[in-house]
Amino acid sequence: MPPEEPLAAWRLMQVEIPLDASEEQLRTQAAQELGFDARQLRGFRIARKALDARVRSGSRRLRWVCHVDLFVDARRRPQLLERALRTGRAKPAPPQPTLRAERVDPGWRASGGAPVVVVGAGPGGLFAAHVLALNGARVVLLERGPQVEQRGRHVVRFHRTRVVDPERNLLFGEGGAGTYSDGKIYTRVDDPLEVPLLEELVVCGAPRAIVYDSSAHIGTDKLHRILPRLRARLVELGVEFRFETRLEDLVLRDGRVHAVRTSSGDVEAAAVVLAPGHSARDTWSALHARGVAFDSKPFQLGVRIEHPQELIDRARFGARIPELGAASYNLVCRASPNTPSAFSFCMCPGGKIVASVSEPGLLCTNGMSNSKHSSAWATSALVTTFGPEHFGAGPFAGVAFQRELEQRFFAAGGGDYTAPAQGARDFLEGREPAHVRRSTYTFGERPGRIDELLPPLARDAIRRALAHFEGQIAHFSSNEGLFVGLESRSSGPVRMLRDASSRRALGIENLYPVGEGAGYAGGIMSAALDGANSALALLASSPASRPLAP
Ligand SMILES: Cc1cc2nc3c(=O)[nH]c(=O)nc-3n(C[C@H](O)[C@H](O)[C@H](O)COP(=O)(O)OP(=O)(O)OC[C@H]3O[C@@H](n4cnc5c(N)ncnc54)[C@H](O)[C@@H]3O)c2cc1C
Repeated sequence: MPPEEPLAAWRLMQVEIPLDASEEQLRTQAAQELGFDARQLRGFRIARKALDARVRSGSRRLRWVCHVDLFVDARRRPQLLERALRTGRAKPAPPQPTLRAERVDPGWRASGGAPVVVVGAGPGGLFAAHVLALNGARVVLLERGPQVEQRGRHVVRFHRTRVVDPERNLLFGEGGAGTYSDGKIYTRVDDPLEVPLLEELVVCGAPRAIVYDSSAHIGTDKLHRILPRLRARLVELGVEFRFETRLEDLVLRDGRVHAVRTSSGDVEAAAVVLAPGHSARDTWSALHARGVAFDSKPFQLGVRIEHPQELIDRARFGARIPELGAASYNLVCRASPNTPSAFSFCMCPGGKIVASVSEPGLLCTNGMSNSKHSSAWATSALVTTFGPEHFGAGPFAGVAFQRELEQRFFAAGGGDYTAPAQGARDFLEGREPAHVRRSTYTFGERPGRIDELLPPLARDAIRRALAHFEGQIAHFSSNEGLFVGLESRSSGPVRMLRDASSRRALGIENLYPVGEGAGYAGGIMSAALDGANSALALLASSPASRPLAP
């Protein structure tokens, strides 16, 4: 047998290709740019693909800009490769990390011991459970809501009856709060675990492009097909799922969690990962009463806006471009001396507005879309940030502030989940809307004074932002833009205090608060990464380490 070629992996940056170029064309072009023939490549992968839509010299030339990894015989070093290495356009491709832990304390692998209990089957809990089980720990995963196959039935019932089920809704159940979402899964953080987590979703049926697409999204329809496959993989690794089982309290002994008290009895625990999401207000209160250290944190609050998708496509690309699908935006209006910054958040191209509530008598909206972004409407939250200086002191002052506004909007909509709505121009000019068009919001809308219902700080910041955004997207602040409110849960209002390096809760030795409900994430991927990284920290620690001072 001929001796095996030594392989080298080179990352080539900033490869520009036309919108309609195939992966094969990209491969050939990248090989040539480094002085290889495409037939000499032993492997090829796209590491990043982003759209360049900048306007240059008055015109916009849309194209993809890619980073790619080329695997070649290490003995071949063409001049073009040497030059690219010298100028920094190429570098050795970084190694691909895995979810395998470098260090696992043997205590976690001991058979017959109590399991690690993970609370919450959102992205934070699911990926904590994944990493724990993959590395040999015994895991029981508790989820208060139903498994995903049953969630749809309960959501349809809510939409039909207008009666919210506090345990089975758009926020609670397998997959967590993002199960009815756009499924945007790109992050702004540079975490080595990101690629292996995305690869896991690809194995479960997500499109391969999510690993490299700089604006990747999955869509509600596909998320619902991926979650059962992810569950099957976790079950294969030994994770025991207990749905419709709510954590109600912790049983503490000598500064450790000894067991968790649930709606179906006690479960002994060697450690607990808490991932209850941003709406588990009852769970936060119970944990606080038991001595878990909480603090309030700043969070975003505002209102959803909806435009015809065509208006956004026109502003972004000149017209709808099939290769690019529905256009999105990400807008920021920086703070002035008197007004805080405001920005768009959770933009759903080709999407719709949903009621993301888990308690009766409260109104809160959010956005979702399917994988094809096929609705004719674009929706996004426009929000500003509120902190303790606005809502007062105490760990749950932010929750009280959210709740009061959610009640106010619920009442203004008529008390049946109909939402108040106001055209953007009317909002700007402080005008009573005589009439509002039909929006995509599930429960419908009625004319309302959103400018008067919002706290003045949010109203002023959003008014200023509207004028600014008009300069970037024509007609953004006309009455073609319809506000439908309120959006109060764009991020969590509390933080469970934990030690930065061990990730253990202050004062309780074997408790690991993670994800958005613990105040350490603000989206699907950041919650998944926080869960996975906390699981690695847990595995590296000894099950018998000492509590950290509260
Ligand atoms: C409509 C909507 C659209 C969104 N769109 C996007 C998007 O496109 N991209 C993005 O990045 N983010 C999006 N988000 C935000 C994203 O969903 C969250 O940031 C993310 O899900 C947080 O993950 P998590 O695991 O921390 O919590 P969650 O996903 O909220 O999961 C927590 C889970 O814990 C369970 N739980 C709560 N209390 C208990 C208890 N006592 N016992 C047992 N189980 C319990 C809940 O039922 C829930 O399933 C969206 C959110 C909403 C509501």
